[in-house]
Amino acid sequence: MVEAETIIKPHVAVLPSPGMGHIIPLFELAKRLVVHHGIRVSFLVINADEDSAAKDYFLRSTALPSGLDVVDLPPVNVSAIIRDDMLLLTRLCVMVEESLKSLKSLLIELGKPEAVVIDLFCTLAFEVCSELSIPVYSFFTPSTAFSTFSLYLPTLDREVEGEFIDLPEPIPIPGCSPVRPEDLLDQVRDRNNDQYRWYLAHMSRLPLAAGIMLNTWEELEPVSLKAIREHPFFLQIPTPPVYPVGPLIKQDEPLSSSDVECLAWLDNQPSDSVLFIALGSGGTLTTKQLIEMARGLEISQQRFIWVLRRPDDADASSTFFNVGSDVNDPISYLPEGFLEKTQEVGVVVKSWATQVAMLRHPSTGGFLSHCGWNSVLESITHGVPIIAWPLYAEQKMNAAMLTEEIGVAMKPVKGPGETVVRREEISRVVMLLMESEEGKLIRCRVKELQNSARRALDKDGSSYNSLSCLLEKWRDEIKS
Ligand code: UDP
Repeated sequence: MVEAETIIKPHVAVLPSPGMGHIIPLFELAKRLVVHHGIRVSFLVINADEDSAAKDYFLRSTALPSGLDVVDLPPVNVSAIIRDDMLLLTRLCVMVEESLKSLKSLLIELGKPEAVVIDLFCTLAFEVCSELSIPVYSFFTPSTAFSTFSLYLPTLDREVEGEFIDLPEPIPIPGCSPVRPEDLLDQVRDRNNDQYRWYLAHMSRLPLAAGIMLNTWEELEPVSLKAIREHPFFLQIPTPPVYPVGPLIKQDEPLSSSDVECLAWLDNQPSDSVLFIALGSGGTLTTKQLIEMARGLEISQQRFIWVLRRPDDADASSTFFNVGSDVNDPISYLPEGFLEKTQEVGVVVKSWATQVAMLRHPSTGGFLSHCGWNSVLESITHGVPIIAWPLYAEQKMNAAMLTEEIGVAMKPVKGPGETVVRREEISRVVMLLMESEEGKLIRCRVKELQNSARRALDKDGSSYNSLSCLLEKWRDEIKS
């Protein structure tokens, strides 16, 4: 019996887009398929001129379980196609399109896997896989709430004239909370820009998937899950079956020497007393905002670890493709005296820290985050409440959901007419989260969700069962 199962081990290819926020959750999916469900996985990596030390470190220094292979797509040189004025998503999609020209031959070389799991910007795989008769499943890396917006976008595109951000009312999403125009993701704020067209094209193709895997769990997003499964709008698309399989977050990761130093420092701090500050793979502050942040931390007198990058006044996602490789000397841009004044309570880390290791530490009691979906899941899974600091992509929508619906975050606000959040406001919110009764309530709510996340992933939990159900299909695929 055991032998028979070994022989029919399904082989699946997993294909992320570039960017750590895509690579990390798909890699965790791949590991889970291999370790918990006995699947063989080829993890396909796009290499298109990005110079990301964090990516290389993550993929090349992680010990791979037997049955998981990292396979590079042939590198492509996109320097002649990418222009400086191209926005983040356009650049990403161009890299993906160029790289996927070799997908067909690679899948043949790999012996035609039983299924291919793609990231949301790899929809070119639908044609390739249809020629090879391989079913394609989409892994939706952001929230389920955002997936409902994305599935609704082609309809909005047909029905609304002009810019969505000029609409006078929040945009109603069938069965879900409406989205305020000011919270809309960057990619749909200018419908004449190329990145809008790319986004719309990829989302219009989502229904071609044989199924959509969602990085969430039943108790985190019940309303959006109900809508996507039952609301007549989503049924008539028709939306493919959805599989909430999360939270799939980074588990073990090799530590750098600065990680080891931070963890040793955390060991000496009281429990729940340290605010961890990190803005995802891309996030950077403007020069003026960085100074306000530093002064706000100083005033708050709270303990902190700050993952710091050179400020950028033009682009809030400036390190997205090269994170970990950016040249970064905090002395040259931090306000004078900051490091001296905070040396007893704070640690500054250049560019990148192993976030999950910091969030897991019992001394970490708050997370000032850009609200990328992986960061959100990592924070909740470790029971850490959030200060929402959205910067790019769909992060404003995530921040609204976390503060207004799920109740695990607080958000500092800009004063009327201000271009930055002022130091007094930063200090107020930091102290509120770390020290007040209101902060305690938020902490309790996160801990409840932390427990429900654990239950969802346990054997026979909702996410475990959802993934098992999909695997049954893949096994049937082999038998037929
Ligand atoms: N991350 C990290 N260290 C950092 C910044 C980010 O380990 O200093 C990881 C973080 O744990 C998460 C991912 O990078 O898994 C960022 O994904 P997210 O969806 O939060 O944001 P994105 O980078 O896509 O904007």
